[in-house]
Amino acid sequence: MKLSNDILSLKMLGPKKAEALKRFEINKIGDFLNHYPKRYEDRSVISPISELREGQKAFIYGKIVNRSVFGSGIKKILKLAVEDSGASIEIVFFNATYLLKMFKTGSKYGFYGSVTVNNKTMQMLHPDFFANVEQEKGIIPVYPLTGGISQQDMRRWIRQILSADLEIEDILPEFIREQEGLLGIKEAFYNIHFPKSMEKLEQAKKRLVFEELFLLQLRLLNAEYAGNNEKKGIAFSKKDVSTEHYTKTLAFELTNAQKKAIAEIEKDMESESPMVRLLQGDVGSGKTAVAEACLYKAVKNGYQAVIMAPTELLARQHYDSMNGRFFEHGIRSEFLSGSVTLTRKKEIYAGIASGEIDVLIGTHAIIQEGVEFENLGLVVVDEQHRFGVEQRAKLSKKGVSIDVLLMTATPIPRSLAAVLFGGIKTSKLDELPPNRKTIETGAFTEKQRKYAYAKLLEEIKNGRQGYIVTPLIDYSESLEGVRSAETVFEGIRKAFPSIRPALIHGAMKQGEKDKIMSEFYKGEVDVLVATVVIEVGINVPNATVMLIENAERFGLAQLHQLRGRVGRGSEKSYCLLVNNGNTEISKERIGVMVRTSDGFEIAEKDLQLRGPGEFFGQRQHGLPELKIANLADDLEKLIEIKKLTEDILEKNPKLDGEEFSALRKKLYELGKEYENIMI
Ligand code: ADP
Ligand code: MG
Repeated sequence: MKLSNDILSLKMLGPKKAEALKRFEINKIGDFLNHYPKRYEDRSVISPISELREGQKAFIYGKIVNRSVFGSGIKKILKLAVEDSGASIEIVFFNATYLLKMFKTGSKYGFYGSVTVNNKTMQMLHPDFFANVEQEKGIIPVYPLTGGISQQDMRRWIRQILSADLEIEDILPEFIREQEGLLGIKEAFYNIHFPKSMEKLEQAKKRLVFEELFLLQLRLLNAEYAGNNEKKGIAFSKKDVSTEHYTKTLAFELTNAQKKAIAEIEKDMESESPMVRLLQGDVGSGKTAVAEACLYKAVKNGYQAVIMAPTELLARQHYDSMNGRFFEHGIRSEFLSGSVTLTRKKEIYAGIASGEIDVLIGTHAIIQEGVEFENLGLVVVDEQHRFGVEQRAKLSKKGVSIDVLLMTATPIPRSLAAVLFGGIKTSKLDELPPNRKTIETGAFTEKQRKYAYAKLLEEIKNGRQGYIVTPLIDYSESLEGVRSAETVFEGIRKAFPSIRPALIHGAMKQGEKDKIMSEFYKGEVDVLVATVVIEVGINVPNATVMLIENAERFGLAQLHQLRGRVGRGSEKSYCLLVNNGNTEISKERIGVMVRTSDGFEIAEKDLQLRGPGEFFGQRQHGLPELKIANLADDLEKLIEIKKLTEDILEKNPKLDGEEFSALRKKLYELGKEYENIMI
């Protein structure tokens, strides 16, 4: 059996179940193997009934010596007396009409469940039961399920796969397996699904975690090695082009941090090796101006340049602010996104191909749309944490060795940055432009919530706008004590008819979101009630209040990002945190927010308080989803594996040779979905 075979080739798996399995991205036989159990039931020993104790989970095997049915209609209760050589137990099923035909007196069954005692009678309520005990003995996997698929289905299919003659290549070369003491892949798969023992299960886990982290590191590092070691890039000239020509025409004096970052980036651009540099800078630290200076440099050197943002709205924002300035310097810029009309697109494509357009500003989609550049030299990626590893890799791997500048406003603590960005060089804007009004941050308990709203209303009466952010979208998701955007939105509509609220959340279509955002921009909406979709980059200077409901449920980095949405204009701004949590940690976290506005300090503190899960948990890092490893728990392992990976790539950057052939194939497959990126 091949891992690439269709799952329909399995027994007892038809189109309907195949459809349901798509939810887990199970499309091929091999995908089943990566659908790992969420826990296990230890049914390796059959317990004698005489030795059962109350509260214990046990696996028993015995003969049905009596059965009785109580009640009427569909709500029948079935009681079985089950006996092994020494003692007996009562097995009870409620609403058991469908089971009545099954259990015959005199037949033997295995039961697995919790032992309870009722009126001095030992019982098992609704246990799992098995006619074929031998097959169900052992450490049994419990899988995540989806509608229409049962545990039995899942176990049957995976057992069928594992007992077939599987064609499976081990992507880990033998020397690594030996060095790290890892099981072979077949044995690992077997034991992660149907462990021979608890010890084997641990070994299987170790092997699979290693493999996942190793692949992750290879994908992260490969980009750098490919970027740094192989190709020659563009050496932009330093002589004729001074970025100062550009920056001195800006409306403000650059901060020292901005000047330093520009100098660092320029140096990379002037060098022959292709640049991959990360610009980290807190919200509002002025990354855009830095990017502009670099775009200017690229264009004045005779190249085209691109700046991409994660949403249409942000891209539009960049275009609106840059277009005029570029024009004054004789630079032609254009906006391109999925929503541009076809006719217009064609014109733009032509302009890009002919070199008439110098700077293209748009969403990430623009590089995937088959845009042909005449002479592309620099790509700036704004808010890069939304940008996948593969895309990063692709950018620096494509034949043309353009320079890449990644920008992020998510402060990442140093220890984690090392793992995530490895050798990527980093510039930091660790200083905010002067005269920034500090944002006054206040913490409110649930009881004081009305004061937070009073402040919000006051600002709106004064002609300002505000945001309210909630953890949940709608009521249906409701968790106790957690507010949703929809309920807050409705509440405001009813209580304050004079206010114009709007609702925006991640489940809405991009077009819809853009429309509401642009109304907010124009001041046609007073309060935007939102989930974290508004987190990134939005710049509405008239918005002066950020009210966050259930602030205890957000990561500090996220709260900090959200707070950065206000304080962008000339008016004093407020961040109002309604804290419904009462643990020490939640109080301390809110305290950090009130005390400091330094994103890096906040990030370090968060790491200290909550561990690395915060950063990895939000999936803001652009890393692929992990199936078995957990970066929060396996961070040390990851650092170890990073070293090993670096050693391997140092000696053999392309992973040449037979021992790596399966690994190369795997990496190729993982990266394939991004193959159509243009650059
Ligand atoms: P971010 O780093 O969050 O992307 P922006 O580049 O959007 O920040 O800058 C935020 C605001 O600060 C913009 O309105 C920008 O014009 C302004 N700004 C940037 N640099 C300076 C500076 N050196 N002095 C004053 N204002 C600045
Ligand atoms: Mg920005």
